[in-house]
Amino acid sequence: MSNDWNARTKLVHSGSRRSQYNEVSEAIYLTQGFVYDTAEDAEARFIETGPDEFIYARYGNPTVRMFEDRIAALEGCEDAFATASGMAAVNAALTCGLKAGDHVVAARALFGSCLYILQDVLARFGVQVTLVDGPDLDAWRGALRSDTRLVFFESISNPTLELIDIKAVCDLAHAVGALVVVDNVFATPIFSNAFELGADVVVYSTTKHIDGQGRCLGGVVLGSRDFIRGTLEPYLKHTGGSMSPFNAWVMLKGMETLDLRCRAMADSAMRIAQAVQGHEKLARVIHPFLDSHPQVDLARRQMSKGSTMLSLDLKGGQAAAFRFLNALEIIIISNNLGDAKSIATHPATTTHQRLPDAQKAELGITPGLVRISIGLEDADDLQRDILNALAAA
Ligand SMILES: *Cc1c(COP(=O)(O)O)cnc(C)c1O
Repeated sequence: MSNDWNARTKLVHSGSRRSQYNEVSEAIYLTQGFVYDTAEDAEARFIETGPDEFIYARYGNPTVRMFEDRIAALEGCEDAFATASGMAAVNAALTCGLKAGDHVVAARALFGSCLYILQDVLARFGVQVTLVDGPDLDAWRGALRSDTRLVFFESISNPTLELIDIKAVCDLAHAVGALVVVDNVFATPIFSNAFELGADVVVYSTTKHIDGQGRCLGGVVLGSRDFIRGTLEPYLKHTGGSMSPFNAWVMLKGMETLDLRCRAMADSAMRIAQAVQGHEKLARVIHPFLDSHPQVDLARRQMSKGSTMLSLDLKGGQAAAFRFLNALEIIIISNNLGDAKSIATHPATTTHQRLPDAQKAELGITPGLVRISIGLEDADDLQRDILNALAAA
């Protein structure tokens, strides 16, 4: 029956396990280990662990398992493994199945740490990496080879909110037998289902919308049981990137309100984007559901709402961007996203600072670009805050 539940019901109930006390709220099993009744029981559990049996929290824990089962139910995939951070998830999803000599194709516009794993770590271990312009399907066609083992991209890029056609890239990748790993953080599990569009593996930084209140780091890798238990779990449980039970409990609680929060934040983002579009201080307002977005048709096909993010490109460059940021009264300056608190970021001098200028230009990270994660505050208040700060810029 739980397979028939709609998303909002799954977000509240899927994966719950109750102890002998029948608690209402999910229990936090803050334990690294588990006691065996006899030596024979210990031996048996190391041979095969049953569905309600655990050995060591690096391998699995009941609270972590609840979170994994809940998000796997939401995504409609077979299994999930929760990790200590989003980067632990990306690193494991990329590294667990690759070996020296393998070829990887990835979109160029990636979170800086994802680029580090591809260009520094994997390249050092003999994996060949080709980076392409993600929205350009011909570039993917040209880069994919018969020995391409894995394809990786963010479904919406940070901070310029470019989309990748998930279905088209999956079809091209599958034609050469490559595994497709999608980082779906900006799209959120609420607005886009990458599995339905062909992805083999989906990763999230749960630090973002899933926690949603800026408390804990976390990540999750989702996929088939074969991939998660056969390929990923051995890598993660032996290299130590597992999620802590306490953080899993925070994520479980975040899941209960995820749909409501994402919808409220996305509605505000859309309204504010429309309100500031064409403002005299702005060269560009970027939001996937604005008619001015070059990929608005793809966005509407691939997503049910246009994300909780918004980027503004100020005409006056860095000086104007800094004046804008410093004049904001409600929206805070920080670098998280998907939080209840609205957050503004200047990518060129913070998250993307270490990129050479030419690479910034190639990725559209101009000196005037400000990325805003719209939170749960009143949309009118946020709009006024942004308009006042634009006047001061
Ligand atoms: C934040 C983020 C990550 C990394 O997640 P952490 O939880 O900070 O390790 C990876 N990919 C994307 C798109 C992100 O936004």
